[in-house]
Amino acid sequence: MTEIPLQQHIAPSGESGEQMTVRDLASCPPPDRWNDWVEYDAKAWPRKVEKHYTIIPTICFNCEAACGLMAYVDKETGRVKKFEGNPYHPGSRGRNCAKGPATINQVDDPERILYPLKRAGKRGEGKWERTTWDEVLETFASKIRAAIVEGRRDQVMYHVGRPGHDGYMERVLGAWGVDGHNSHTNVCSSSARFGYQIWCGADRPSPDHANARFILLISSHLETGHYFNPQAQRIIEGKMKGAKLAVMDPRLSNTASMADYWLPTWPGSEAAVLLAMARLILVEKLHNREYMRRWINWQEYLAAEYPNEPQTFDRFIELLIEQYAEYTPAFAAKESGLTEESIIDIARQVGHAGTAFAAHTWRAAAAGNLGGWQVSRALWFLSVLTGSIGTPGGTAPNTWNKFVPAPFIKPSPSEMWNELLFPLEYPLSNYEMSFLLPYFLREGRGKLAAYFTRVYNPVWTNPDGTAWIEMLTNEQQVELHAALTPVWSETAWYADYVLPMGVGSERHDLMSQETHAGRWIGFRQPVLRVYKERNGEPVEYTYQTNPGEVWEEDEFWIELSWRIDPDGSLGIRKYFESPYRPCQKLTIEEYYRWIFENSVPGLPEAAAKEKLSPLEYMRKYGSFEIPQDKVPVFTLNERELKPAELEGAQADEQTGKITRNGTPIGVMIDGKAYEGFPTLSRKLEFYSATMKEWGWPEYTIPSYIRSHVHRANIDHARSEYLLLPTFRLPTLVHTRSGNAKWLYEISNANPVWMHPTDAERIGVRTGDLVRITTEIGYFVNRAWITDGIRPGIVGCSHHLGRWRLSTSQGTDRWASALVELSKANEGTWRMRQLEGTRPFESDDPDSARIFWREGGVHQNLTFPVHPDPVSGMHCWHQKVTVEAAHPEDAYGDVYVDTRKAYKVYKEWLAMTRPQMHRPDGLRRPLWMLRPHRPVASAFKR
Ligand code: SF4
Repeated sequence: MTEIPLQQHIAPSGESGEQMTVRDLASCPPPDRWNDWVEYDAKAWPRKVEKHYTIIPTICFNCEAACGLMAYVDKETGRVKKFEGNPYHPGSRGRNCAKGPATINQVDDPERILYPLKRAGKRGEGKWERTTWDEVLETFASKIRAAIVEGRRDQVMYHVGRPGHDGYMERVLGAWGVDGHNSHTNVCSSSARFGYQIWCGADRPSPDHANARFILLISSHLETGHYFNPQAQRIIEGKMKGAKLAVMDPRLSNTASMADYWLPTWPGSEAAVLLAMARLILVEKLHNREYMRRWINWQEYLAAEYPNEPQTFDRFIELLIEQYAEYTPAFAAKESGLTEESIIDIARQVGHAGTAFAAHTWRAAAAGNLGGWQVSRALWFLSVLTGSIGTPGGTAPNTWNKFVPAPFIKPSPSEMWNELLFPLEYPLSNYEMSFLLPYFLREGRGKLAAYFTRVYNPVWTNPDGTAWIEMLTNEQQVELHAALTPVWSETAWYADYVLPMGVGSERHDLMSQETHAGRWIGFRQPVLRVYKERNGEPVEYTYQTNPGEVWEEDEFWIELSWRIDPDGSLGIRKYFESPYRPCQKLTIEEYYRWIFENSVPGLPEAAAKEKLSPLEYMRKYGSFEIPQDKVPVFTLNERELKPAELEGAQADEQTGKITRNGTPIGVMIDGKAYEGFPTLSRKLEFYSATMKEWGWPEYTIPSYIRSHVHRANIDHARSEYLLLPTFRLPTLVHTRSGNAKWLYEISNANPVWMHPTDAERIGVRTGDLVRITTEIGYFVNRAWITDGIRPGIVGCSHHLGRWRLSTSQGTDRWASALVELSKANEGTWRMRQLEGTRPFESDDPDSARIFWREGGVHQNLTFPVHPDPVSGMHCWHQKVTVEAAHPEDAYGDVYVDTRKAYKVYKEWLAMTRPQMHRPDGLRRPLWMLRPHRPVASAFKR
């Protein structure tokens, strides 16, 4: 096999600087042959029949990792034949998970929606008629224009599940002047984000696994969803170079099965274990003293909490050990169920790894528990103690490893504040309190004139999905709803319009993710459009090359914005005019062309070397890694401020904080001015004054909050267990892989994982039906008995259990059961499966070969909302009772009492500490991140 060195634009991996090669790949067409790549037709074997392809790079859209794909367009048919990995993509380097190549299933899915649909009956009745895009655009433009003109901007809302781009929609909503960006973050990652944000001002971690000596992961999430493939391959790279891997997870996940240490903690106890490790590192003097002295805001801590103690670093360390005195290995072992020895062993290995300690947590432990944000906060504490923040082999703030280029004009920030998104009860939430929207509308806090859901399926994904059905079918609360989606979903069923949008190879997007110690951009492109253009056929709109009348969203928003403000009098249109042709409508090619020409350091030069324009370069390769001499990635806090940057600035004598006009811009350390971190102190905030100021004085430093599913709350003698409902399967996407037949062939059931000792106590065996009862209802599923889960806990993957209300529409038949869903007068809902997954006739002969019959059970319907009073995160873990199914139970049964659900919502709401009467009138700390950030004055009530 020929070994092909990657092009210049693939940057060195980590510190070592060694060039990646593609020697491990079975085949890798070199770019100079992408216009005519020849393979033999496998189906013609043993004859050697040549097939000619044009290879066009794009970006996978099946999780947020944004791996590179190469589409093979068959020159004979003009159709995409297959997708493979793009070795020239800096994040994925040619490797993909099963979901990447399965993009071809999504393109060819016989169940996909090809034309815009409008409801013909009542909402949810399932009657649809085909409509035109023109009618869709006019309907929404006039509704939104009226809301803007009449001062009802808070009634326009865009609610996104998987964005798939960086910054595009913030620009659109900013141009409209609405504070209407809603997301799924609070059912996903809010707590993990909050723990990171109060430490360092960035809300995600970026570990450099490939160069680490010790890697500690909290949760299974990494291998199954969050940067699954780019980070997973670097963990293996690190292990091959000698790194040790520890995984804290109550379930034996794929990652845990590859680890040197599997630490099956009781869910919610992780912060106790991490703090015990922190204490041990301090006691045994394994901490990085100099790093801590320079970069922790210890002066602020001593001044605020210990004003009568010597204000010295040595005293700070002594007090730290005293502060964490209760976190002994014995205490952590009692809370978690781990052994003291394992806690001590891992703590020492973390300490010895020093600046090459990499750590990561995202959903799972942080997302499951009340106070889960203390898990990520405690984990970052270990990174701080070892001085491994942003070092080779350490863990950086994500902003150091991500690059979001600026577009040609940016709208001013919104001047309004939407309390449906950021209500007063949750001033510190990360981010919008999206899953509480049905309750807020029910309580009369507002209403929606125009509501877009985009790649978002709250009826199925969110807790208490029946509350979403009730909201979406209430025309007083939601006047007009469009579901922008490439695929049918339970939520689209209740919309007024279902608008088909392109899958990953049918749209433009620009993405960057913190996959490793580097920065890159990935250009998702509509491959058939690019194919036509390569063949000299100009294309005006992407939908002209997509199947049916499938649009791409970028172009939809440009068209809609022009119709909202046709003459420019609202000040909106100017943002959608060409930067190259004054007063003409922006084309999507011009939008990206401008970014590539003006906002990506090093790209114009790299393109010029190949005699290409920057846009041509990105069309050719689909990605670009920013050279580190242009934008460095390590220890950015140590950048010294230049004299010009210090003009008019002042430094605080006690803390060293440098401010200009009251805004922190850097920090003095040992007589030098550094950029520091984007926090109030410009240091790493071990001590958070924000927590005290905003009503949580007991949480000013990393600590341990007992979860709502703490061991003491679970009594097995009463059949009580902890349900772990958060884990992903590596082969599925939440609700968007129902259109990928290969993936469902691999994974088509979500049984309840149960330890043999628990199964014996309950009296069930693998395959038996069990009834799982939550606070508001129950579901019936099959048991799967396994040693791969901690005793006392049952687990159920959150992917499966899709359903539809009509025989042939509503959710892809590859993935769903036909169900009856009925509501009784007293506020209870019942679901019963009428027919599981079945073969069906279609243009794809595989649809007649479906062999799986039970497509899983929808558990989320039976969960009440559990908003964490600080971070706002829905705390997913459930205290449940588990018993053998009742005689009347059937597989897939779901029962929900919405009155109980509302009561639980009120109980958790009562745990908040609203800051209604602050003298400064702020709704939220000014320094905290929030998407689509309004002007500072809007933060005030
Ligand atoms: S990890 Fe898999 S699903 Fe995610 S972007 Fe990469 S190939 Fe696609």
